[in-house]
Amino acid sequence: MAPKTMKAIQIQQYNEPYHISEVPTPRPKPHQVCHTDPMALNNEVGCINFDSVCGTCTDCKAGLPIYCDAPLMKGITTDGAWAEYMAADARFLVKLPDEMEFKVAAPLMCAGISIYGGIVRADVRKGGSIGIAGIGGLGHLGAQIAKCMGYKVAAIDVKQSALDAVASYEHRPDALILATDPVEKSLDKINGMISSDYPGLDATVLATDHPAAFELAAALTRKHGTMVLLGQPEKGSTLPYQTVIYKDITLVGSLVADTVQAQELVELFHRNRLHVEITEWKIEDAEQMRQWYLSGTSGGKNVVVMGDNL
Ligand SMILES: [Zn+2]
Repeated sequence: MAPKTMKAIQIQQYNEPYHISEVPTPRPKPHQVCHTDPMALNNEVGCINFDSVCGTCTDCKAGLPIYCDAPLMKGITTDGAWAEYMAADARFLVKLPDEMEFKVAAPLMCAGISIYGGIVRADVRKGGSIGIAGIGGLGHLGAQIAKCMGYKVAAIDVKQSALDAVASYEHRPDALILATDPVEKSLDKINGMISSDYPGLDATVLATDHPAAFELAAALTRKHGTMVLLGQPEKGSTLPYQTVIYKDITLVGSLVADTVQAQELVELFHRNRLHVEITEWKIEDAEQMRQWYLSGTSGGKNVVVMGDNL
């Protein structure tokens, strides 16, 4: 039995320090399951970042719940996730392989599925080329995932250290592109790894919020290629018409992935033994984690590990 109360990390005000609170342990509603109840479920599961969806809007009815008009997102528009217990909507659960640790699975449930969804939406033919722009929390996963999906991969980042890190993984990119290099030099590097009718990458996936990356990615994307936009620059970004229009580039917006794709990702990740860069934190150190994140020095994903029983 779960205790009556539990510890939770709460955001009480945006851009203010995190609070550690003692709150009532959630009780599952009919469509929710409780991970401590073996009658409800015998598997270890992950939950993608949704609390619930309305079930009545056009996208919900069309089987596209991630585009629901009124979704409740855990930790964003409703409580949840950063606590010792969580009630999860069975519609958003993903079965985890027995040997997969929770701390490895956690970053896949939002960062992982976001970049995987983006790569899938790029819709590049097998053997084609994909550039991952921004090798951070999403990008370091994306570079490995795209490689395992059979693509030629270019990792693009402004930090040499981020490129060196992905180059050290088993499933390393085919080309490392330093964003500060001249575009011509980067295109030469890319064209050296692929044989295509057009110079440049078949698709680029924007896994950074940095506006300058959008322009660079457009320059590195080939004629008739695709740009998938995942990054969310605070003030938006501009793209030069000379590249986008004259090269007939398709712009695709991508949010996250659904549970079917999340399950595919978990299996691909586990089968290929991909590497996820994590820094572990105790619940009590949540504010320290926030400061570390804000300092911009952290690569990879920060994971809060709850209790010893997980
Ligand atoms: Zn809906």
